[in-house]
Amino acid sequence: MKKLFGTSGIRGVVWEQITPKLIMDLGLVFATHLDNSGSVVVGKDPRLSSGMFESCIVSGLLSGGCDVKRIDTVPTPVVGFAVRRLKAKAGVMITASHNPPQYNGVKLWDSSGMAYTSQLETEIESIYFDKQMRSVSWDSIGRIEKVEVLGSYIDEVVAAIELKHEYKIIVDCGNGSGSLVTPHLFRKFGCKVATLNSHPDGTFPGRGLEPSPENLGELCKAVKFTGADLGIAHDGDADRIAAVDEAGRVAQADKLLALVAAHQICQKDNVVVTTVDASSVVDEVVGRYGGKIMRTPVGDVNVAAAVKKHDAVFGGEPSGAWIFPSFHLAPDGALAAVKILKLLDSTGKKLSKLLDELPDYQTARKKLACPNSQKAKVMEKFGLKSKEFSCARVSQIDGIRLEFKDGWVLVRPSGTEPYIRVTAESKSLTRAQELATMAIKILKRCIHN
Ligand code: MG
Repeated sequence: MKKLFGTSGIRGVVWEQITPKLIMDLGLVFATHLDNSGSVVVGKDPRLSSGMFESCIVSGLLSGGCDVKRIDTVPTPVVGFAVRRLKAKAGVMITASHNPPQYNGVKLWDSSGMAYTSQLETEIESIYFDKQMRSVSWDSIGRIEKVEVLGSYIDEVVAAIELKHEYKIIVDCGNGSGSLVTPHLFRKFGCKVATLNSHPDGTFPGRGLEPSPENLGELCKAVKFTGADLGIAHDGDADRIAAVDEAGRVAQADKLLALVAAHQICQKDNVVVTTVDASSVVDEVVGRYGGKIMRTPVGDVNVAAAVKKHDAVFGGEPSGAWIFPSFHLAPDGALAAVKILKLLDSTGKKLSKLLDELPDYQTARKKLACPNSQKAKVMEKFGLKSKEFSCARVSQIDGIRLEFKDGWVLVRPSGTEPYIRVTAESKSLTRAQELATMAIKILKRCIHN
């Protein structure tokens, strides 16, 4: 089956996988999927190619009879917000998230402000590949309206969360679209805000766009030397978050997720959704607060769908894509930043203290080369062999996860590269490495026999 969509929309290198023709066709395909009627919100990130692709998607949508509400450069979650606020039928975001500047892509949103699920993406793909798109006659072509939504988005977040104290914060938006929201949002809360890389620049000169420790050295230094309470970083389209504590350390992503998830629980058995690759620290901490964990395949759309289905209080991936369904179903970096501040405000503790109170888990990661054509067969063989282990539980939600009393190991084929990836976790590093080595040994046998 031919595919357009990956784990988070359509993405690729400009002029290679992503061309103006593709994006214009996609606009018409999307309009066809929406029965050639209704309005569609269109937003973009600050990439140099985003204006060109915005025009292409808009042309495609108009030619298919949809009206367009252009909201210009915004963080991705603001498209989800705007769809509901403007009572639109759907939304489109032109972005390649954390990928380098020569990439771009498209992410689609439904009328509830949730990203398109893989099922809806398959419907789009069949219209595209079967060439079923329908344009409309000259007198039914859609109309464009320019709408400003950032102000109302900021006002709604401020209205939804109450902070008793004021804080000193350093924000690093990586020159992405978070620059237009997060610093302003914190100032509305009365915080003292200093910024790094927080003017939109589509060449992303400041740092790598992934908000991972190797890209956050400057932020760590800035937090420590200015005596700030918190450092916040986003990826290029600000649907993800990373935080730096007041000691200048990047917060371990799983621990931060566990901490914030646990604080969303209001009553026993509230559901928290996370992905198969998240650390057991999430189960342990959420369990202490009386919550229940539901795991999904990797990908923010899978998390959002499970949050909706199980009426969860929180959903999050260790990558920093967090969903707070009381506000909306879009992973939202700016909202996540305010929720971290809310945590400091309600506990009265420093972030370093809150993180250091949590249990430590050790992770071992390995990968094994495996041609894409062999992945399915190797995984099937590994599944059969895994029955020989005396593990407490085998989960096949996404890849194969073997759970033992003292740790777990997850074996997953990479979606984009010719590898099978192995992640193991335990409270002891030796045990985590032992589990990863064991899985690699079995995988090698599955590949060669
Ligand atoms: Mg992103």
